Amino acid sequence: MGASQESSAAQQLAERARRVLLHEQRMGHADAAVKPGGLQAFAAQWADTVRDARRRGELGAARSEPGADAPEQALVRLVAAYRSQDPMQRVATVRAALALVESMAGASARPASSPPATARGPLASRSGGAPGVSPSSVAPAARSPRPPARPADHAETWPLATPPPSLVDLRRRPRPDEGSTAPLPLRPAAPPRPEDEHLLRAPVSAIPGVGQTQEQRLTRLGIRTVRDLLYHFPREHHDFSKLKKIGQVGFGETATILGLIWEVENVRGGARGVVRTIARVSDETGAIRAVWFNQPYLLKQLPRGAYIVLTGLKQRIGNRVELSVKSHELPEQGDLVNTGRLVPVYPLTEGLTPKALRRMTKWAVDHCAGYVPEHLPAAVRARTRLLSLPEAIAQFHFPDSAQTLAEARRRLAFDEMFLVQLGMLTQRAHWQDGPPAPVLAAPPGLVFEDGTDAEQPAPETRAYAPGGPTSQASALDSGSGLWPLTATCFETSLPFRFTGAQRRVLREILADLRRGHAMCRLLQGDVGSGKTVVAAAAILVAAANGYQSALLAPTEILAEQHYRSVSALLAPFGLRVALVTGSQKTKERAAALDDLARGQVSVAVGTHALLEERVSLKRLGLAVVDEQHRFGVEQRDALRQKGLHPHMLVMTATPIPRTLALTLYGDLDVSTIDELPAGRRPVDTRWRHGTGRREAYQLVADEVAAGRQAYIICPLVEESEALEARAATKEYERLKTDVFPEQRLGLVHGQLRPAEKERAMRTFRDGLIDVLVATAVVEVGVDVPNATIMLIEDADRFGLSQLHQFRGRVGRGEHQSYCYLLSKQAGVGASERLSVLETTTDGFVLAEADLRLRGPGDFFGTRQSGLPELRVANLADTPLVGEARAQAEWLWQRDPYLRELEHAPLRERVALFWREFVAH
Ligand code: ADP
Ligand code: MG
Repeated sequence: MGASQESSAAQQLAERARRVLLHEQRMGHADAAVKPGGLQAFAAQWADTVRDARRRGELGAARSEPGADAPEQALVRLVAAYRSQDPMQRVATVRAALALVESMAGASARPASSPPATARGPLASRSGGAPGVSPSSVAPAARSPRPPARPADHAETWPLATPPPSLVDLRRRPRPDEGSTAPLPLRPAAPPRPEDEHLLRAPVSAIPGVGQTQEQRLTRLGIRTVRDLLYHFPREHHDFSKLKKIGQVGFGETATILGLIWEVENVRGGARGVVRTIARVSDETGAIRAVWFNQPYLLKQLPRGAYIVLTGLKQRIGNRVELSVKSHELPEQGDLVNTGRLVPVYPLTEGLTPKALRRMTKWAVDHCAGYVPEHLPAAVRARTRLLSLPEAIAQFHFPDSAQTLAEARRRLAFDEMFLVQLGMLTQRAHWQDGPPAPVLAAPPGLVFEDGTDAEQPAPETRAYAPGGPTSQASALDSGSGLWPLTATCFETSLPFRFTGAQRRVLREILADLRRGHAMCRLLQGDVGSGKTVVAAAAILVAAANGYQSALLAPTEILAEQHYRSVSALLAPFGLRVALVTGSQKTKERAAALDDLARGQVSVAVGTHALLEERVSLKRLGLAVVDEQHRFGVEQRDALRQKGLHPHMLVMTATPIPRTLALTLYGDLDVSTIDELPAGRRPVDTRWRHGTGRREAYQLVADEVAAGRQAYIICPLVEESEALEARAATKEYERLKTDVFPEQRLGLVHGQLRPAEKERAMRTFRDGLIDVLVATAVVEVGVDVPNATIMLIEDADRFGLSQLHQFRGRVGRGEHQSYCYLLSKQAGVGASERLSVLETTTDGFVLAEADLRLRGPGDFFGTRQSGLPELRVANLADTPLVGEARAQAEWLWQRDPYLRELEHAPLRERVALFWREFVAH
């Protein structure tokens, strides 16, 4: 007998039983579908027929696991006590019987294209070869000892005789790799088919049920393709995974339960004709009325006798007890999406409901996530023990557990950081492997008193050993002797000796300068740590080799400041410095530019505009950039376009936590001055509220009387700069008339034209103003040593790093300085920040605390910080950022520029990511 005949005979028999069972269901489980004798009699007769057929060889041997009943025996046993069962048990029995019959048909090769009418989820059918449903997983009720039948009208109070099956059983997930920790068998068993991969690029309308309207809504979220949808990650997850027993849910509690639907009805009532859909649901501990409002169509969607998972609020309304349903799902009709699990919460847009979006995403995850190409090299995955990309995407949307969610997040966050880091390494390599930079070697004794200028720094200060051309500096003529130096040693010419930290970073810089490929270095050091002398020493070395330097500052006043100090530092060597600013007189400026072009001047100081000017800096050997976040990529490109390839030193006084430094400046080597010159008096910092203001005002008056100057910083007005300016102007008027009528007051705010701003700052610097009332615009680098006291209003509104910068404006001279942090009664977070500031003056400690307390988004206080738009990664996650960096360096060392074929997908991803990162 052929196999196909066997299967069709089995199917016919199964179909007959199925029809009877379905009929019994429709008739309300009254045991009236078969007369006489009911289901029990039918089962006996049917089993005889099956056995006969088997004996005639029409069915083959009973296929079942050893020890298990043949299906006909199982059915007989299942319905044996049907008549004596209570209604709910009958429901369960019929369902179990149906499953059994279907498994019989399924076992004889039921074609996958005609799924059974009930109780088979998409995952079950997707699994193909998964074993049929065993009765024990569906109907424990049918096997347990049962109480005598009770009359139906008391149904509401009846608990089930036995607990509902577990959700896992209900979902009937295929678990082919039981025992492994892999959460979902997402990797397709068969090799990916091209048409499925194309699905990733398909418009979202390829998803069943997504029409034009939904497509438009998704577009508003930036989701156009199925792939976009997969990368539309949840903001968070609601934990609806913990199932409670109905009997244990308290009043006022929102809980998730699993029970059997007993009865469903629509009830119209109330003045406004509200329709309430009420389902009676029970488990073995109790029963409850679940209520939905104004969704009458639910009546048809909630079949009696089906298991349901409900998340809702248990309330007492009048003398009724109800569960107001927030979300529900029928676990047997498919995977749980909206409840009974960790439920994803997505950013939404008008008209797009959470449920609709979850449904689409679930579809995309089930059908397409497996085809997202893995771009991480296998070696990196092995070293990091990360989930595969398809797994991570699936688990990040619909996690199996809190743990897999964490693993998924880790993988996706790692990806982002890894791409940033590889991009950084690429940038640095491009810069350093580019055209050679001049070899700028320091003659022994030029910088250091002890003549150690040419000594190599300790090897560990070079985290990265670049390849590329070396010492081809002859490409640029080395016109040494252009500026004959008149003094011999820089350190001796100073009124002080270098600090140990200054000496160390100078060594690192000098080593870079003599190497022949362009230096790319970040010099960070707290306010007043002495970065300017370090820069001046580097400039001197360039000059000694016949090369010019440019020193760039973010504002004109800072440029002027640098001009004065660098001129003074280099004067003993006979070097000339030119200042180039926008507010210079045309003639003055022309003269400066002319001097530069003719090589008469070795240093140009100016704002960043200097780079864009048609300034001839043909012999530019070194560019020093002061106080700039994320100066770098674009400016380097600007320089390159002018055909220049100088060494680059970026300086910042905002200490940056390591993770941020790696992310923002990962393309730079970092040198840190972590030591202040000896004998600095720390600023006396006092955090006050209420009447503390009077104390502060008194001290301002006293200091001014002693010939000192003061800053008063006005509150931050988040809404707009215009409002902030208005508030500052008002405060200025008030202080002038009410508080400091005797003193000379000045005002700066962001709405002033740059020239006006500069004028006010200059007047203050020149001592013609006693008290400068200002908004946050004074933050950066201004050096007025005579200013000794600063008042910061509403200090709790500013970030720690910003407050530290403000405070750095005082304490720059010989006099004891003070900083008052004024705030109203601050909240917990703010109190923590202000007390950290009161007790420490270490910028790095503060920066770490700021990042920890407020997160990277607020760290710089502005959106223009150049921080990448990271969807998953958290920059405060130090270990992960460090790991991403380490892995990126490891990979880069094996395959610089990711040229190997195996790394092509990764290279592509880096290029894409980097384009967005830089454009940001
Ligand atoms: P910043 O790092 O904030 O730019 P500056 O370079 O402006 O700091 O230096 C602050 C002050 O400290 C300057 O007046 C400078 O002359 C002085 N200074 C720098 N290095 C030392 C040192 N090693 N010993 C004593 N004073 C120093
Ligand atoms: Mg400085």
